[in-house]
Amino acid sequence: MEHYNVEQKIQEFIAYIEAKNPNEPEFLQAVKEVAITVIPFIATRKQYDGMKLLERMAEPERTIIFRVPWVDDAGEIQVNRGFRIQMNSAIGPYKGGIRFHPTVNLSVLKFLAFEQTFKNSLTTLPMGGGKGGADFDPQGKSNMEIMRFCQAFMTELCKHIGPETDVPAGDIGVGAREIGYLFGQYKKIRNEFTGVLTGKGLAYGGSLIRPEATGYGVVYFCEQMMKTIGEDLKGKTFVVSGFGNVAWGVIKKVTELGGKVLTISGPDGYVYDKDGIDGEKIDYLLELRSSGNNRAEDFAAKFPGAVFHAGKRPWEVKCDVAIPAATQNELFLEDAKMLVENGVMCVTEAANMPSTLDAINYFLEHKVLFSPGKASNAGGVATSGLEMTQNSIRLNWSSEEVDTRLKEIMVGIHKACRDYGKEEDGYVNYVKGANIAGFVKVAEAMLAQGVV
Ligand code: GLU
Repeated sequence: MEHYNVEQKIQEFIAYIEAKNPNEPEFLQAVKEVAITVIPFIATRKQYDGMKLLERMAEPERTIIFRVPWVDDAGEIQVNRGFRIQMNSAIGPYKGGIRFHPTVNLSVLKFLAFEQTFKNSLTTLPMGGGKGGADFDPQGKSNMEIMRFCQAFMTELCKHIGPETDVPAGDIGVGAREIGYLFGQYKKIRNEFTGVLTGKGLAYGGSLIRPEATGYGVVYFCEQMMKTIGEDLKGKTFVVSGFGNVAWGVIKKVTELGGKVLTISGPDGYVYDKDGIDGEKIDYLLELRSSGNNRAEDFAAKFPGAVFHAGKRPWEVKCDVAIPAATQNELFLEDAKMLVENGVMCVTEAANMPSTLDAINYFLEHKVLFSPGKASNAGGVATSGLEMTQNSIRLNWSSEEVDTRLKEIMVGIHKACRDYGKEEDGYVNYVKGANIAGFVKVAEAMLAQGVV
């Protein structure tokens, strides 16, 4: 009976979210994953009963949608749509990245802001959840066009953010260059030099290790997962997707710890390199990326051992560990089946929601070590939190200091996931663990603050 009630509650909640947010499939996917694991937990806590905590968490505190007009190099006027989702400020100022990509829409940013709330809670740092972006495509744009777009975007966004209110950072399409332009425009309009953005350059308040942090954090988390089955990363083979900042950090750290990375991927397909992607290949990856080129084919052309597979995803390659580090919904059920059949031990998500719900369930059913991005990629935003602290105390920490703190945070997140996700047979369900651990802190803060 008890079980039936919980199941029914889950179905009712999902129906409610579906009705309230039609045509938002990514948002629905993210909320569903949380609801399935958190509603049974809520049912065990009397103080949460009737408080509509999940309903409140699934409704952004504020959604800002704005016009971003700018002039391209040919003198033509362009119009993009800008967004900032201020999801939840129960445990700190809104915090989360800005994404510039043609696929950006309300559904994508709401899913990211929702995930961010749980992720930021897991870091143990005082950061609420937010996300923003624009449907702007940086591919093929000149440096001056990028600058003008960032200025136009910030001209509106600056009215809604601030170091104690909302602190954006980078995400897909927004790196150090864009953060610089956004920061410059904020400072000019507001006449304030503050830590309003993270991921800044070292010369104006950035933190050492922030560029590497997401990828390094993923690998620290993966190391912890492997430890639970008595394994380490030395000599293991890794299949990595993606081509950007996160994949770069992952590859650097895996290589340093003695693992071998066999693949990377771009929107055009994936590269398999039997010799492993290391040394000068990692530098070349960075070089290509900073020139605005994310074509995996161009990477493959440079190295004799590298083979390009057009239009394919890398999950067909046999490996010990898989790390999806590109974007949402890039690992499907058929990929999960291939990975399991090929004996994968561990899947550590580096992107936000790269695996579909049925792929996740397949991994869980087959007792593969599987961690959701909101736990394993939290090192990026955690180090943003460390950047905020350094800005507040007006000091810069050494690389070692930041890296040590990052590692401690990742070990802490892993422990929290284990504590809440351990099942009777000893298997750790990291999805359940991350969702419940992330939920509890936000829920407690919301309960304490009343219905606001
Ligand atoms: N965009 C990153 C994420 O998905 C970083 C956010 C931040 O540093 O605020 O977590």
